[in-house]
Amino acid sequence: MPELDSPIENFFKLQKPQIAALKKLGLFTARDVLLYFPYRYLDFSRVKQIIDLKPGENVSLKVKINSISGRFAMYGRMALAEAVVSDDTGSIKVVWFNQPYLAKSLAAGEEIFLAGSADYYKSSLQLTNPIYEKLSDFPIHTARLVPLYHLKQSIYPKTFRNLVAQVLPLSGQIADNLPSDILKHQALMDIDATIKQSHFPDSPDGMAEARKRLAFEEIFYNQLAARRHKIKLSEKKAYAVKFEENVVKNFVASLPFKLTADQRKSAWNVLQDMQKPLPMNRLLEGDVGSGKTLVALIAALQAISDGYQAVLLAPTEILASQHYQTAHGLFCKSPVNFNARCALITNNYCLLNNKPEKKDKLSALIKEGMPGLYIGTHALLQKNIKFKKLALVVIDEQHRFGVEQRAQLINTRGKVPHLLSLSATPIPRTLQLAVYGELDISQIKSKPAGRKNIVTKLVNATNREKAYEFITKQVTAGRQVFVITPLIEESDKLGVKSAKSEQVNLKKVFPTFQIGLMHGRLKGPEKEAAMKDFLNNKTQILVSTSVIEVGVDVPNASTIIIEGADRFGLAQLHQFRGRVGRAEHQSYCFLFSDNQNPDTVNRLTEFTKTNDGFELAELDLKQRGFGEMYGQTQSGWNFKYFDPSYTSLIQPARQEALAILTDDLNLDSYPSLKEKIKDKVVHFE
Ligand code: ADP
Ligand code: MG
Repeated sequence: MPELDSPIENFFKLQKPQIAALKKLGLFTARDVLLYFPYRYLDFSRVKQIIDLKPGENVSLKVKINSISGRFAMYGRMALAEAVVSDDTGSIKVVWFNQPYLAKSLAAGEEIFLAGSADYYKSSLQLTNPIYEKLSDFPIHTARLVPLYHLKQSIYPKTFRNLVAQVLPLSGQIADNLPSDILKHQALMDIDATIKQSHFPDSPDGMAEARKRLAFEEIFYNQLAARRHKIKLSEKKAYAVKFEENVVKNFVASLPFKLTADQRKSAWNVLQDMQKPLPMNRLLEGDVGSGKTLVALIAALQAISDGYQAVLLAPTEILASQHYQTAHGLFCKSPVNFNARCALITNNYCLLNNKPEKKDKLSALIKEGMPGLYIGTHALLQKNIKFKKLALVVIDEQHRFGVEQRAQLINTRGKVPHLLSLSATPIPRTLQLAVYGELDISQIKSKPAGRKNIVTKLVNATNREKAYEFITKQVTAGRQVFVITPLIEESDKLGVKSAKSEQVNLKKVFPTFQIGLMHGRLKGPEKEAAMKDFLNNKTQILVSTSVIEVGVDVPNASTIIIEGADRFGLAQLHQFRGRVGRAEHQSYCFLFSDNQNPDTVNRLTEFTKTNDGFELAELDLKQRGFGEMYGQTQSGWNFKYFDPSYTSLIQPARQEALAILTDDLNLDSYPSLKEKIKDKVVHFE
């Protein structure tokens, strides 16, 4: 069908800049335009008579122009068109600012629709800047739910609506990607009706049904990809890691603390999975500080003592080194020596059992299959490092690893390693299937014993002094302080400017304390040095931008200040807050914000009331929506239409996906579905 795919210009007269702007939006052909859906509607569906007009109400009018003329107002600075229009019940004055040409394009005697709201001007009702449209059986700018699109400036909403109306008759030619059986079972609109009702809905119901169909389609692809991945993965082989109770028991007994119930349960889940010759694909979800690392280390130790290799990937060098220290300490320095080898491989380090080692040498050992836990950043994923007996891969803060990077890890020639992802982002239960459809999930909800809640306060400008006095006391008592600065300017992407200026500022406030600085422009070793100085209490206060990774453990830090707290989501604030309260000291979090907007104050106040990450995730979700929170970066899915209000669609979508896959795992009879999920490599392929 050539028409659908011929360029927009063939259908509609457009100027060059407009064509360019449409291309920027990804709109080249009639098909593209048909599938470019509105983000919102203005409700001008009520067509009223002039006598019934109430101020402030959005309505449409069907009127005749009595008179129309252009003039200048405001001492000649503003051109406007003025008209008097009437229907059977009365007449009303209309003013269009900045559109004097209307006086020429509309003429007295003409019948038109107007859409807008009337307001009092000098004690009589007047319509200001209403949308107008010549009378027709199928109005598209007035007298209906009027679609609004995300557009570039050079394209007026009216122009785009006219373009859509022009190509709309072609919508019947668009093939439906959803099989007709599914449409029938689920009582969903077909694609033709969906397109028509999305752009120019007959009614609010029509609009809602169209949205629902689009949301279903998205979650269906998501479930199809996830289920298919899961089934395919279950056909692959992994090393069956023997569960040796003694090893685990001895290790747990060697720890300076008792495992929490949830740590125990999660470790059990993981060890059970690893015993099977099928690849594990598990997510370990737990609040910051809940002790996920330990669960990962138990799994790694079990793999190593059975003669395999394990990898722990961290998003940054700092985190990798910290994990390495922890692992090395627990595996080799504890009273019981587990004799498990531990290596660190990053761009700047190559350590084996705490001694520097040549990278080539270590690569060779890895290739030979030397059992051990290999900890590193993506430097570990370099092509020349080939694991011979890789049984387990742990990815810390999993969302920071791109899909491609994860894929690199798999040596498909041999066995697929068991995968354990660690994440501190809590996902509400109802949405887990949508975000992590193909993963098994373990959660750590309980905190290690003795952890105190972090006292959280919202501080306004007048109390800043007091907060600073408090900090002086904390530092004098030996504690340390994080200060997080927000990204203020668009141009200052790495937040260098805001962090630097805050450092200067704090040097004046605390002249006797040492103040360190962390921002995205620092090189690896510089970051490392800044972090080390803070860890060793050489600096008492560390100013850091939000771009610096979370997860770093500085037990002596008892207070965190978040500047411009209103600029962050609650889940992110919670991540920041998790940097303190990692030891026995009572810890504090101060949110600094001068934003007086009641909603913002409310949101931040809610945050001060709870230390529960799951609760905050739910709140965030309500306030910021799904896309914002679980967009591309984390789930690999970019939902445009699916949002939490459609959670009831997840199960049916999943059932339909399963039904199709049961008969046709390779989707050979569904080429368009196959195409749709092609790029959606889920967590591990
Ligand atoms: P996260 O889940 O944020 O990665 P970590 O694994 O870094 O948390 O653990 C945070 C801190 O809590 C570490 O210092 C760790 O040694 C300690 N920890 C872990 N489990 C326990 C426990 N069961 N009891 C006491 N402290 C624990
Ligand atoms: Mg961690």
